[in-house]
Amino acid sequence: MESTGREQLDLETDTPPPHNIIFRKYRGCYVSRGIGLLLGVFFVSALLVTGLLVYYVAPHPPPAPPPASKPPLLSYQPLITTSPTSPISASTTSTSTTTTPASVEDAVTITKGGMTSQPLGAEPEGITDERESETKKGSPRLPRALRPLHYLVRLQPLINGNFTILGYVEVEMEVLEATSNITLHIADIITHNDTVKLRAAQDPTGPGLAIAAHQFDSEREFYVAHLNETLQPGDKYVLSMHFIGLLNDMMKGFYRSSYRHADGTVTWLAATQFQATDARRAFPCFDEPGLKATFEVHLARQSNMTSLSNMPVKETIPMEDQEGWLWDQYHTTVPMSTYLLAFVVSDFVNLNTVINDKILFRVWARSSAIRQAYYALDVGPRMLTHFVNFFSQPYPLPKLDMIAIPDFAAGAMENWGLAMYREILMLYDPRVSSAYNKQLVASVVGHELAHQWFGNLVTPRWWTDIWLNEGFASYLEYTGVDHVEPSWKIMEQFVLNRIQGMFTADSLASSHPIRHNAEHADKIAYDKGSSIIRMMSHFLGEAAFRRGLTEYLHRFKYDNAEQDDLWRHLTKAAHEAGTLPLNLTVKTIMDTWTLQMGYPVIKVERSADGTSATVSQERFLLVKDDNADDTHDYKWWVPLTYTGQDQPDFSQTQAKVWMKDSEAQVTVTSLPPKDHWVIFNLQQTGYYRVNYDDHNWNLLIQQLLTDHRAIATVNRAQIIDDALDLARAGRLPYSTALEVTTYLPVEKDFVPWAAAFENIAFLTDMLKDTAAYGAFRNYLLDILVPLYDSVGFQDRETDLLLDKYKRQKALSWACRLEHPDCLHNATTSYASWMANPDINSISPNLKSTVYCHAIAEGGEHEWTFAWQQYVAANVGSEKVTLLRAMGCTRRPWLLSKYLEMAFTPDSGIRKQDALTVFNAIANNDVGRQLAWVFLQDHWDDIYDFVERVPMRMIRSACRKFKTEHHLKELVEFYEAHSHQLPHNALDMAQLLEEVTGNVAWLKNHYDEVLAWLESQGHAYMLPSH
Ligand SMILES: [Zn+2]
Repeated sequence: MESTGREQLDLETDTPPPHNIIFRKYRGCYVSRGIGLLLGVFFVSALLVTGLLVYYVAPHPPPAPPPASKPPLLSYQPLITTSPTSPISASTTSTSTTTTPASVEDAVTITKGGMTSQPLGAEPEGITDERESETKKGSPRLPRALRPLHYLVRLQPLINGNFTILGYVEVEMEVLEATSNITLHIADIITHNDTVKLRAAQDPTGPGLAIAAHQFDSEREFYVAHLNETLQPGDKYVLSMHFIGLLNDMMKGFYRSSYRHADGTVTWLAATQFQATDARRAFPCFDEPGLKATFEVHLARQSNMTSLSNMPVKETIPMEDQEGWLWDQYHTTVPMSTYLLAFVVSDFVNLNTVINDKILFRVWARSSAIRQAYYALDVGPRMLTHFVNFFSQPYPLPKLDMIAIPDFAAGAMENWGLAMYREILMLYDPRVSSAYNKQLVASVVGHELAHQWFGNLVTPRWWTDIWLNEGFASYLEYTGVDHVEPSWKIMEQFVLNRIQGMFTADSLASSHPIRHNAEHADKIAYDKGSSIIRMMSHFLGEAAFRRGLTEYLHRFKYDNAEQDDLWRHLTKAAHEAGTLPLNLTVKTIMDTWTLQMGYPVIKVERSADGTSATVSQERFLLVKDDNADDTHDYKWWVPLTYTGQDQPDFSQTQAKVWMKDSEAQVTVTSLPPKDHWVIFNLQQTGYYRVNYDDHNWNLLIQQLLTDHRAIATVNRAQIIDDALDLARAGRLPYSTALEVTTYLPVEKDFVPWAAAFENIAFLTDMLKDTAAYGAFRNYLLDILVPLYDSVGFQDRETDLLLDKYKRQKALSWACRLEHPDCLHNATTSYASWMANPDINSISPNLKSTVYCHAIAEGGEHEWTFAWQQYVAANVGSEKVTLLRAMGCTRRPWLLSKYLEMAFTPDSGIRKQDALTVFNAIANNDVGRQLAWVFLQDHWDDIYDFVERVPMRMIRSACRKFKTEHHLKELVEFYEAHSHQLPHNALDMAQLLEEVTGNVAWLKNHYDEVLAWLESQGHAYMLPSH
């Protein structure tokens, strides 16, 4: 999965919400009280008076059990109806422009509790389960007595009806241990006890086994069939049931999405998102990654729509008694995990190609956006071929579909043979979208395709190893992009996007180990995971790394594995290649990086003659807490690489010296004489920081000032980032760290500049409203203006990708620092667009800067124009750029209005984008306090229907706090609401630690930075005479 949006290159960053947001405090009336009541009554009846519901929708009597070979068609009557008592009618749903979606939301709001697998039968008293103790929310495990072999899943989603799903499932199981009950997952599904049947697999038409009692455990999302007899190991059974589900609007399970045509009409579609534990919302199943099975999927659709699943369609047949409906029956899948299953029913269209005469590759989108899918169609097949070669393993399915879904909670999802994306991560329009959008598409496509092997073919046994999936996909996407777009220097960008961006969060005492028990991978899994995998590929050598991976994939294909399985195969390959000492294993090394949190800083202290150095390691913490009760002895196996000024060679990235986790320090010899610098951690391939003695720092600064190109580009970025963060943590004087930045006026490369800007952003946040800001700003303009002048305000034909990024960064910062020429250019470009809205001549790469600053400098007129363009835009990236830019206004009333709009249904802002708007406002100095107050005032609404979003909003509003007063507010807020955030204790601890760090930074470093600025001639006091 690509769980979060990528960081933008401009000053705004945000993370899309993992779940949508439903606010019940609607403005206006979207659903009549009568309909709401009716819906309530309808579903309450369904739960309490089951007979009525069963009579209405279920076969009566229940149908004969379907034979395994050719099951009968569903005999439910669909709930499409034009009856006046029907809550939603088919005819209005497909064409309505305003009221229907909202009333549907209300329907779900009302039924939310009711749809959570409630018991319909008598619940036996005193039933316990062998895993009763594991009721911790999040990961209750199924008993291990049974394993699923094969499923038949038949679903009829009523997309143009009332959004119910009529379902039938059969699961063939093998008994592993004697058991008298069958437990599987179920959630948000209504079934009826009478339809649940259990038969011996070899006797599909026999009378079956009696089920003594049905138990629904809504807490653990279990359905349990209690039997009178004991099933014996080795025997096989088939459990079947009919059920009713709901195409929810929560972007999980089998859910509904919609898009609006130019004429205002709305078309609905249905899609899935099952990772981690939401397949159980689409059909009852053994919903754990380790329980692989084969699946035969049948999807019902109306004849004007298309369905998609993991495999190609085997046969399409008309539905009996339901005119205009067809069953698409899919080929049986390979053995796979439930979370990778996928369904789509839509009216989308596709572009396609065939790879090597055997793999059908299609890209799908709504018809008015399909032209934006050409780039995905271009890079996708080339990347697939790259990974086939990289892994030396064929792609095992006959087809691969990629589809852009208008509402998608994750960034993208690697469902086997049917990858799904947010529109902005698959669609690209060269006339409208920026170079960065193009890189995003290539990267995310590469990520999801890498998962087809790493994750899909071989799957973690449990979610504790999910980091392996995400870390590998996040690293391998870089190899894929490097293959299809070699001029992008994507490997140089890795250090910015993955390592340096991760270092700050992982240097908190409240970080967590990469391998930990969570169903959802977080930034640590993606960024630290990919960083330590890259480190590993360098210390093992590319050839041994790939060989180990290939053998691991071959050994565990269609099966599950744990990180130790991978370490074993990599060790074997490295020992054979001679790249790892025979007495050292990959597990020994990697356990120190995956099982303990944080990372080290390496201190290099050279001898008096310079030719040797004492190298020590210590955990790097941004804020040292001497009272901390963590007594763990943090030490790592550190691959030391280095070079010297006498014979600089930055290409040698295999470990020259291993520093053991039992060693506090080692001695490195054969270094150059004392007047020549040394640099450790070449190409920043190691996941660690480096500090030097004062003399070596000064040698490095002199080198940068005289000829910076003598140091490799990535290591220049490393030196800048290490120096400024070492100073932030109090390990290096700011005078030294800031001295490193004085060479920047001659720097021409993007990567070092980007590393500098990331650190400058922190200093800017700290100093923004202090007396020192003017002096700081003047210094920044001093180093930036040469870059600004060199890049110009227009893209050039000859620009490479990194040239475009460099211009974008330079302009973004120049405007942010209120450089008059930059602001003038931004406002005039925007004004000429406003004067002629049909012609937008602003370079796609500069739009975020131009829009943001023109709106910030302007008033209501500029803001409203942006809104009109947002509504009219047909390209996802343009919509997001405008959404962020509207958050740049300095008019508080516009910001307040915008906040309300973001959280009002049908305002025109999609729920998936509400957090983007909130973040944009919280990032704005004028908006931050508004956002914080809004969050507190609307807390109950925000809290109610979302899972991880409230925490993200808190973080977004508060992460730049730097005063005792604000810290106290945050602490009090958390004290008042901690009971509502039981799963966010760690997130909250990290946020509090960051804010505490900010407060401490101002106390400890403000004077020091001010003194250095004054020493550079940037006095902050005005002359008094
Ligand atoms: Zn992923």
